[in-house]
Amino acid sequence: MHLTDKFGRRISDLRISITDRCNYKCVYCRSGNDGPQFSEMDIAEYLRIARIFVELGITKVRLTGGEPLLRKGLVEMVRELGGMRTLEGRPLDIAITTNGHLLAELAQPLADAGLTRVTVSMDAVDPEHFARITRVPNGYERVLAGIRAAQRAGLHPVKVNCVLLRGFNDDQIIPFGVFAREEGAIVRFIEFMPLEEDRVWTPEIVITLDEIVRRMAAFMPLREVEHSRSETARRYRFEDGVGEIGIIAPVSQPFCGHCSRIRVTSDGKIRTCLFSVREHDLAALMLNGASDEEMIAFIQRAVDQKEERHHIGEAGFIPASRTMVHIGG
Ligand code: SAM
Repeated sequence: MHLTDKFGRRISDLRISITDRCNYKCVYCRSGNDGPQFSEMDIAEYLRIARIFVELGITKVRLTGGEPLLRKGLVEMVRELGGMRTLEGRPLDIAITTNGHLLAELAQPLADAGLTRVTVSMDAVDPEHFARITRVPNGYERVLAGIRAAQRAGLHPVKVNCVLLRGFNDDQIIPFGVFAREEGAIVRFIEFMPLEEDRVWTPEIVITLDEIVRRMAAFMPLREVEHSRSETARRYRFEDGVGEIGIIAPVSQPFCGHCSRIRVTSDGKIRTCLFSVREHDLAALMLNGASDEEMIAFIQRAVDQKEERHHIGEAGFIPASRTMVHIGG
């Protein structure tokens, strides 16, 4: 049985937020204060949810947050996921998105437990910029050590996500190009979306795909590489063949038509889109002792209501009911 929504999109990619706590306060994501925090479920409950989704055709599970590496039991969780098989009998593709602060210590245990890939968020390649963005001193060296540890642990290719904000860190475009070439990591620029706690988003702050490609050309021109339809990032290599970057452009070039994602928040709510204004309370159903069959029926009904597309930048745009740190990026 495969999950397919009413627009014919096959849902194969599950993102589970295992906490909405975070040890960073990135300016484009969080407010400077500790905001509301939602409840967390037991790891065993996330694993039950994951197993049921896998029975419904999910092939890829990404653990996110908040900061997933803060969660005790993460390595065991990855090991349990590693024992699951897709409907086709293959191992799951298991990924984590992390700020990298604790990755140097955890990369090898996670790789040994069966983690397939890791994406590290890093919005500047110099320590001062980095501290200004994350509002944490001395994080840069730790994150760099985390990236290198992930590479040593064989979690190839390590992807590095960078959100660019005009006038804040857009001077990092070329330094990130150099970084991608020198470190052998795939740097992916993500267009800033209106999902932040401080509601500062305007279209003018967004550095679009076209602008990134144009500005990177001042360093070295890029050649686009073929990417699969379900891939969110457009991929580019530098013209001399050394180094790859990706650009994820949900604002200037939305890819909703190929969306294969579904999300579960740390408090067990299903979200069918980052920009959903309503959630489906799977945790409440579980608390009431639902059987697997009842959960499957509930998930199918949620998928039936998956939004066709987001409406960023359009008149009448309604902000998502929660911000990124509480949804799980
Ligand atoms: N703490 C982990 C991390 O830093 O990667 C995982 C959670 S974080 C919310 C996941 C990703 O969402 C990060 O790469 C972050 O840069 C990105 N992100 C957060 N707010 C965003 C926004 N408003 N627009 C685009 N990306 C955003």
